[in-house]
Amino acid sequence: MTEPEDKAERHKKRMQARKKIVDAGVARALEERGTVILYTGDGKGKTTAAIGTVTRALGYGYRVFVAQFIKGVWECGEKNLLTQLPEGKYSLHWHEMGTDFTWETQDFDADKAAARALWSKARVALQDEETYLVVLDELTYALNYHWLDKQEVVEAIQQRPLQQTVVITGRGAKQYLKDIADTVSEMRALKHAFSEGIAARKGIEW
Ligand code: ATP
Ligand code: MG
Repeated sequence: MTEPEDKAERHKKRMQARKKIVDAGVARALEERGTVILYTGDGKGKTTAAIGTVTRALGYGYRVFVAQFIKGVWECGEKNLLTQLPEGKYSLHWHEMGTDFTWETQDFDADKAAARALWSKARVALQDEETYLVVLDELTYALNYHWLDKQEVVEAIQQRPLQQTVVITGRGAKQYLKDIADTVSEMRALKHAFSEGIAARKGIEW
């Protein structure tokens, strides 16, 4: 065999072996249900990953509910775009706390009240059979600051309709959130431009 042919043959064998592994994995994954996905860690990419999932679900015409704990006074590009989608064709329900980062508001009671008001809307979505995807963006802060009761949140997520998926984002997710999640990805900051003195950019960071 000439050298390039030998290489092609080796590649083919490797891919056949890989295909067997992938096919076996696919054959094992038979359960059809929604999952809990948790994006945590201190690196960039948690909210953008959640919003990527929102566009995926909307692209198939599914009903999506987004709750943004923390955010709400700043502009954000994804909200500008997605909340302009034609209503008859896409079903997106976007709600936010409408307060600033807690170190800006410095008002515990107001933050707690805003978080609870938002949570009461999220609870309704978590009981709605028609809602395919629920995003609880920056939920970890609302829990870690004790604005919400963790037991109540965990139960509402666990008792959601079988086909509903929940995406939770935020730094510092505690073990109980990791325990109820089916998929946990930790974004680790190997580098972040901000630490190098580069300002957050419109359309990239928000
Ligand atoms: P993104 O919204 O860009 O996906 P994120 O949701 O992972 O980021 P958050 O922890 O919610 O990040 O942080 C909010 C803001 O801080 C965003 O503008 C984000 O881009 C930025 N950011 C994320 N990681 C870091 C970091 N390690 N250092 C500084 N700023 C960061
Ligand atoms: Mg975020």
